[in-house]
Amino acid sequence: MAPSWSLGSALRGMFAKPTIDDDTWDDLETALITADFGADLSEQLVEELRGKVERYRTTDPADLQRMLRETLEERFARLDSTLVLSARPAVVLVVGVNGVGKTTTIGKFAKFLISRGRSVLVGAADTFRAAAVEQLATWAERAGARVVRPQQPGQDPASVAFQSVETAQRDGVDIVLVDTAGRLQTKSGLMDELGKVKRVVEKLSPIAEVLLVLDATTGQNGVAQAEAFIEHAGVTGLVLTKLDGSAKGGFVLAVQERTNIPIKLIGQGEGIDDLAGFTPSSFVAQLVG
Ligand code: GDP
Ligand code: GDP
Ligand code: MG
Repeated sequence: MAPSWSLGSALRGMFAKPTIDDDTWDDLETALITADFGADLSEQLVEELRGKVERYRTTDPADLQRMLRETLEERFARLDSTLVLSARPAVVLVVGVNGVGKTTTIGKFAKFLISRGRSVLVGAADTFRAAAVEQLATWAERAGARVVRPQQPGQDPASVAFQSVETAQRDGVDIVLVDTAGRLQTKSGLMDELGKVKRVVEKLSPIAEVLLVLDATTGQNGVAQAEAFIEHAGVTGLVLTKLDGSAKGGFVLAVQERTNIPIKLIGQGEGIDDLAGFTPSSFVAQLVG
């Protein structure tokens, strides 16, 4: 079944016509804007496709559908979605605003890595709420990962992150996933706290990845969040969660184009196996239908 964010139904009428006509371009632009590609990107895509259709002198909507797939795939593939986890330990910092799915993503990601033979330690550097530590510990247990907890409630997140990496180095753990408290991108004090976590960890080890988690249902607001985190936290990859919800497929490309940061993981549910690496070809196949 096509996912809810698929453009398939919006495009079906267009591709079912016997021929490409003047309405096709307006219909395509409307479908793209409705799917949250944003006005600029939608216009660019329509222009690009119009050019291709003219060059290939085709009037067949099936050709246009194939060209749309190719154009989207090329755009997605411009950035490399490969996670860089070869350092030992590879330290991954997970950041984002409240409720986007950071802790859940860490649980799923730990399981994903462990099932591929890597050892994983999770660091509970979201020390702001006691319940956050327990939530992470529960996920770690399900995934089979070790957990480093704060020694006192409210401990400095940077010191928990430090202890996590120190423990992983001592015990030869492959990958450290550091959970952080949610923070609004507009709170500069909290954004500075992330900078501190990074600096403190870097005393022990370079950071392999800083993953920014974005709730894909937030649309253009997610882009604003992304920009602030990129400025303060040195983001190396995006994780888009809740693609099983009311997300619009175009946001996924819009956010990558606006930020120039590759999407590396996608979350499609609340279960431990609902996480996948980002693969442009299969994503676009689902998007275009
Ligand atoms: P955090 O505050 O960023 O750590 O967010 P949490 O990991 O606590 O998740 C917040 C809520 O989003 C929880 O109810 C999760 O179950 C839910 N959630 C996280 N990822 C997904 C996803 O991919 N799909 C759906 N439907 N829900 C998700
Ligand atoms: P103000 O609203 O501008 O006065 O900012 P506050 O510092 O009072 O905090 C606003 C929100 O930020 C609180 O509701 C908390 O959710 C969060 N917050 C405050 N201090 C911390 C902190 O040290 N760490 C984290 N992660 N969040 C905090
Ligand atoms: Mg959390």
